[in-house]
Amino acid sequence: MITANPHYEKLRASYLFSDIAKRVSAYQQSCPDVDIIRLGIGDVTHGLPDACVQAFHRGVDEMAVDATFRGYGPEQGYSFLRDKIAAEDFRARGADIDGDEIFVSDGAKCDTGNFQELFSTDIKIAIPDPVYPVYLDTNVMAGRTGEFNNGRYGGVCYMECTAENNFVPDLPEEPVDLIYLCFPNNPTGTTITKSALKRWVDFARDTDALILFDAAYEAFIRNEDLPRSIYEIEGAREVAVEFRSFSKTAGFTGTRCAYTVVPKSCRVFDQTGKPVLLHSLWNRRHTTKFNGVAYPVQRAAEAVYSTEGKAQVKALVDGYLENAKIIQRAMDSMGFNYVGGTDSPYVWINGNGRDSWEFFDLLLKKAGVVCTPGTGFGQCGEGYIRISAFNSRDKVETAMARMREALGS
Ligand code: PLP
Repeated sequence: MITANPHYEKLRASYLFSDIAKRVSAYQQSCPDVDIIRLGIGDVTHGLPDACVQAFHRGVDEMAVDATFRGYGPEQGYSFLRDKIAAEDFRARGADIDGDEIFVSDGAKCDTGNFQELFSTDIKIAIPDPVYPVYLDTNVMAGRTGEFNNGRYGGVCYMECTAENNFVPDLPEEPVDLIYLCFPNNPTGTTITKSALKRWVDFARDTDALILFDAAYEAFIRNEDLPRSIYEIEGAREVAVEFRSFSKTAGFTGTRCAYTVVPKSCRVFDQTGKPVLLHSLWNRRHTTKFNGVAYPVQRAAEAVYSTEGKAQVKALVDGYLENAKIIQRAMDSMGFNYVGGTDSPYVWINGNGRDSWEFFDLLLKKAGVVCTPGTGFGQCGEGYIRISAFNSRDKVETAMARMREALGS
């Protein structure tokens, strides 16, 4: 008899986006004339930078003729892209990373979700709350958690991120093996300082743990004192893996290109406690289960590092950051406390005593604006909403004007 993976039964059905869709559609039916503005989802809205589009076209043209056609490429990515990433994103910032430590993929979602396959099922995972749900759900699927009871999965070390700790988790008080960190954070939009990140690196070294560092929003960092990569922190090469993506950096959400950094000195341990190099494990996994990102897409990603590409990507991200400022100013004027929106595209807003769904409904029905209820990201998200800066300037300005009017300030 073919039996289903029993761990899938533990998964709490994610009603978040379907609930949002249902409420939005019910509202739209009752008020067909309202032009609803969506600031909920974390998807980009502007077209690809021209340098990427041109490189993409050239890549497609090369595929059209025998002389330049490419079939299967290296699973880890073409060296023209891996070497550029290592030089521009890491060594230029003093982080010691080589091209062959970069694994190009079709998304940070798959990589952050798949990476846990490399570890035993009996390890203890430490996950922030609120959190990008992929980290948690993929560990549930793998059988690394207990049942879902009273809002939480058994066996998981939840690292609470609240106003009390400025939404940066405290070091766990219990022993943990695998630690997920995400900065700039989705959903709270908060960042981490070098000294705070150093405490995590030291903790991982002292306790033989491993950090999975999701830096998908690194391009939004403008404060030069903040780390863009965990490898800017001394000692991180042995204890951290980093995930990056061209999705939010260069508008690749629909084009698909990302990468994972696994330093050759990064170690885990076998059942006898002997160190094992993670690079060879991930290389084995990646080359077995993945066949590379399309050649024209890798050429388009490479163009991010050209002179024009750098300027265009900066302008794109600057535009979203300006939207985030507009959202911040609107929240200031309405008297809402928030974090994020600086060095990040997300603003995490406290509902002044309203619960997340109540706040969501208020914005939808009074202002025709869609946000994301914080409770969808974990227990600690209750009482908050996330507003995303990913939309046109005009829509963000209109949304904020409508909110001001609706909330009477
Ligand atoms: N990591 C975080 C924290 C995200 O918020 C997202 C997307 O929203 C991703 C990863 C996924 O990125 P990608 O488009 O590369 O799969």
